[in-house]
Amino acid sequence: MDAKLLHEDALIWDAHRDVAYEAPLKERFLAKWMVGVDLHLDRVRSGGIDVQVYAICLACELGLEPTAQALKELDAILNILDTHQDEAALVTTTGEALAARQDGRLAVILSLEGAESILTELGLLRMFYRLGFRNMGLTWNFRNPLADGGYAGRDGGGLSSFGVEVVKEMNRLGMMVDLAHMTPAGMRQILQISELPVIHSHGGTRHVTPEHPRTLDDDMLEAIARNGGVFCVTTVPEILADASGKPSLDRFLDHIEHAVSVMGVDHVGLGADFDIYTSHLEPSSHTWVKDLEEANQWPNVTAGLLRRGIPEADIRKIMGDNLRRVFQQVIG
Ligand SMILES: [Zn+2]
Repeated sequence: MDAKLLHEDALIWDAHRDVAYEAPLKERFLAKWMVGVDLHLDRVRSGGIDVQVYAICLACELGLEPTAQALKELDAILNILDTHQDEAALVTTTGEALAARQDGRLAVILSLEGAESILTELGLLRMFYRLGFRNMGLTWNFRNPLADGGYAGRDGGGLSSFGVEVVKEMNRLGMMVDLAHMTPAGMRQILQISELPVIHSHGGTRHVTPEHPRTLDDDMLEAIARNGGVFCVTTVPEILADASGKPSLDRFLDHIEHAVSVMGVDHVGLGADFDIYTSHLEPSSHTWVKDLEEANQWPNVTAGLLRRGIPEADIRKIMGDNLRRVFQQVIG
């Protein structure tokens, strides 16, 4: 099958996109953000994406309590979905995701990138589940009541006793645990505790980019594979930079190929980390990944994997079927 047909026929699942990140929440960005919403939907859809995880991240300072900020960002996302009902649908199961695809609509799964907004209350975790969230990372870059964040470095600590309780409750609810941004100690601890497969929604391999803090050692990749989980390769320019500092599609494919060689083809997926905010910046103001600048370039990944001699059946797994399998196991 040629690359274009294969891309259209395969299920394409992106495990991470920042949508409400910052722009909609500060009035001075609002007009730009509205342009970004339309642009990103066009790009996601022309890129052939079937299932897109939309993350809520509390990275920016809004002067709101974290629970309130998460709800405000959720309001922004639901407003997008309300005004684009013919193009996208919020889903909470893999069955609903596949049904949306059948309708020609983008399936959107909600994710919390960092659990600050549940404070120290399992009840708030359950409320976010009830609101439709099906994926959550315990931390973003910083320490919170659940665990150390990735900025604690490769030697940072793991989970608090509350963090352990949260993982168990997420297993019970059927909510995907996301290892992205955590310390190696935190990831290892979750892999020991979790009775269900987990994902790492956006990262790189340390083998290809040793200097970046958000890349994973081979032994961590192997541990995720043993858990039955999926490691998703990101498009973050710094992680895809080569020795000269230039990020490229080829580097993205290098991370994929290395992860497959360590984990096996059943445990690797896509997790772009594109966001609405940068998607409409002037090209000169942002470092772009050559040939993988935005979501409309996903067909280049399928074509690139084919060019590298990866079998068609394996490409389908990497582009989406692996994430479909683990989400089916965890969220139903
Ligand atoms: Zn992130």
